[in-house]
Amino acid sequence: MRRPEIDLGACNGCGTCIEVSPDVFRFNDLGFVQVADLDAYPEAEVDEAIALCPEDCIYWSQ
Ligand code: SF4
Repeated sequence: MRRPEIDLGACNGCGTCIEVSPDVFRFNDLGFVQVADLDAYPEAEVDEAIALCPEDCIYWSQ
């Protein structure tokens, strides 16, 4: 199953991905964006988050 990943070294914490796909992306207690553990990920939403991420730091891993 494909899973979205975030390069936290590049993430600026803007929250755009969370606005686009709040079921997938969230801030953790430390204020970093993390990917929720889901059985399946909504491809269209994640692709939109990838397209809108200003740092190009979201990607699909296999
Ligand atoms: S859209 Fe990109 S830069 Fe913004 S919080 Fe999400 S992963 Fe980080």
